[in-house]
Amino acid sequence: MGDNTSGPSRRNVLRGAVLLGVGVAAGGGALLSTGIAGADVPVPDIADCDTWGARPPSEDVTPVERNPDKIIVHHTESANTDDTSQDAAYAIAREIQHWHMDENGWIDTGQHFTNSRGGFLMEGRHTSLKHLTDGKGMVQGAHAPGQNDKAIGIENQGTYFTVEPPKALWDSLVKLCAYICAQYGIKATEIYGHRDYTDTDCPGDVLYGKIPQLREEVQKVLDGTP
Ligand SMILES: [Zn+2]
Repeated sequence: MGDNTSGPSRRNVLRGAVLLGVGVAAGGGALLSTGIAGADVPVPDIADCDTWGARPPSEDVTPVERNPDKIIVHHTESANTDDTSQDAAYAIAREIQHWHMDENGWIDTGQHFTNSRGGFLMEGRHTSLKHLTDGKGMVQGAHAPGQNDKAIGIENQGTYFTVEPPKALWDSLVKLCAYICAQYGIKATEIYGHRDYTDTDCPGDVLYGKIPQLREEVQKVLDGTP
């Protein structure tokens, strides 16, 4: 299941330290983001577009100067695969990009980040990760009409109408949301399900029902008491 459940890899810790310049190396070597919220939050390992093999966008993506004010949680409504490998994670990221570009006619992946059933985190739309790492601005997405220049969209692999998300996916979702909140100064209460903004059943009744728990667990990470 890779090393993502045991914290960021050394390589990314070092890369993050250079980019962030605000990180604090703790005893265990894990980088903490103090972000603009002043919270000491672990920096998760997030594979960028080049790492998972993204196609280039069909036209230039649109940067947004102001910081996002919320997070919107989605499910991919794809199969609840038992393959929790990194290869499977990168494959679903490529598959989503194909759907969004070839079927929806979008310029690139719609969401900002993707979370696999094995708990692997990946960049979605190009430049999402750079903005997040810098804690400055965002790229306009295509995941929730009316919210695409305000909300960070996270696609969670699988279908959660009747079943619980796997623990690995849940844990990585908490980590990613906490990091996004810390970097942008977003309150944990500003995490929503897609159906809060669009006429949709996304992210499934079960995952949607866990949004209050997600807010609570993210708040604990922000408080340093997970
Ligand atoms: Zn959705």
